[in-house]
Amino acid sequence: MTESTLRLALAIVLTLVWCLLAFKAWQRSRQRYKAALHDSDHTPDTGTLELAVFYASQTGTAAALAERTARSLPGYAAVARPLSATNPKQLQLFKTLLLILSTSGEGDPPDMAAPFLAHVYEGPPPDLSNLRYGLLALGDTRYRNYCGFAVRIENWLQRCGARPLFPMVLVNQQQTSALTHWSHLIEQHFQADATTFAADNTPATRQWRLRERTLSNPGSLGKPCHHLILESLDQPTARWRGGDIASIAIADLGIQRDYSIASLPDEGVIRLLVREHLAADGTPGLGSHWLTHTLQPGDTVTITLRSNPGFHAPDTDVPVIFIGNGTGLAGLRALIRERLAQGHTRNWLIYGERQRAHDQHYGNELAAWERNGYLARLDQAFSRDIAHDIQGHPMAYGPADNLAPPQTASCSGAPAGPYVQHVLHIQRTEIRRWLREGAWVYVCGSRTGMADAVDRTLKSIAGQALFDQLRRNGRYRQDVY
Ligand SMILES: Cc1cc2nc3c(=O)[nH]c(=O)nc-3n(C[C@H](O)[C@H](O)[C@H](O)COP(=O)(O)OP(=O)(O)OC[C@H]3O[C@@H](n4cnc5c(N)ncnc54)[C@H](O)[C@@H]3O)c2cc1C
Repeated sequence: MTESTLRLALAIVLTLVWCLLAFKAWQRSRQRYKAALHDSDHTPDTGTLELAVFYASQTGTAAALAERTARSLPGYAAVARPLSATNPKQLQLFKTLLLILSTSGEGDPPDMAAPFLAHVYEGPPPDLSNLRYGLLALGDTRYRNYCGFAVRIENWLQRCGARPLFPMVLVNQQQTSALTHWSHLIEQHFQADATTFAADNTPATRQWRLRERTLSNPGSLGKPCHHLILESLDQPTARWRGGDIASIAIADLGIQRDYSIASLPDEGVIRLLVREHLAADGTPGLGSHWLTHTLQPGDTVTITLRSNPGFHAPDTDVPVIFIGNGTGLAGLRALIRERLAQGHTRNWLIYGERQRAHDQHYGNELAAWERNGYLARLDQAFSRDIAHDIQGHPMAYGPADNLAPPQTASCSGAPAGPYVQHVLHIQRTEIRRWLREGAWVYVCGSRTGMADAVDRTLKSIAGQALFDQLRRNGRYRQDVY
């Protein structure tokens, strides 16, 4: 062997050893990172960690941006986590925090930030003087108190001694220039890959043709709900996951409206459940009227598929309780299909509509799933059906918020209930058992009336500590509107 061959062989061996050591160090840092993040209740004392990415998201945009940010930082083994998954001790472990925080409505925090506010923000201020942070604030200037929640968190961080790496980046209605500015700042400070961040922004905007539209609840007392089937005009067929959103450009009107996708890509089509919206004065909603009356089979429509990672199904075979009402079945159907494709059948669906005889969206499919054991349990609550006692007298539940058992109905007034929260209350022992067995909870449908009542009922069933743990650990997820 010549001297030069020997030198080359030595160089190769040294390079391989270096790569191995670097890989081991990366693996160790990832394990420490995971340990620190995944068990936020028992954060180990693992010394200082480089960087964490946290988000607070209402409709999934901040969560998706946080994931893009984390993916553009491969050297840091970062994963995006909900803000409520952290605690003061854990915050003190990191040198740097990247926060992507949405503000909803008039300066309000996203629902998912509630445990953080209750347990970290309201608690004794931790000493974060060793912490630097970068903050991306998502908001909408049409509302008062623009980016109010992010400003509130920034003030708190500074009160705790943390210092900004750069001035907070404010993004009005997902303005691209502000997002590009953010990715450049991340690139500058962390050698992040701005091209990964930009390339990740595959808007997946495509043309779809309405193949079929059917009224899904003929004869119902509820507002008409339509089942839409749309086929892609582009190849290859777009990809999306259960829980993702179809953002539809109502081109004639220059507006955009979001709908939960009820299907998965394996069906080759987008399925939607669209309820005709009516304002209090009877004026039809712009987007829903266009989709259910103006758009005709054969017409095309522009749809942007939006990832909604905060509402994706768990990858493991944990039990899942799906709760929803009305068009909320759309998002839940796609999630359940995804679980079934992975062979996970510990699914409990609790679903509310008005009348069993008329509101049977995907009714045959749900019945078949239950029959075949794909749904471990199916409980449906039809709020306008009249239950009868054993003497044949009509029974009525109290108002939506009253969880008392049903009473024999008085002659006047339509019997009300049950709603999904009544089912939860009646099944409380079983719900508690599922939760203790590690169940995740997904809620999809009406924010007012359903989601808030489910929230209160679940809290009363689980108890404050378990309820907070569910939210902190991302086991309680909502997609409500
Ligand atoms: C994540 C998500 C998933 C949804 N999934 C479904 C579903 O599966 N099925 C379903 O029927 N509905 C769904 N919706 C509701 C749907 O997006 C529309 O709000 C609904 O169809 C009424 O819109 P409209 O244009 O008919 O009524 P409009 O009267 O035009 O709007 C209703 C009200 O909401 C406001 N509004 C609605 N969307 C926007 C927006 N993008 N920007 C600003 N203001 C807005 C309007 O200003 C108005 O006050 C979902 C909403 C969200 C956020």
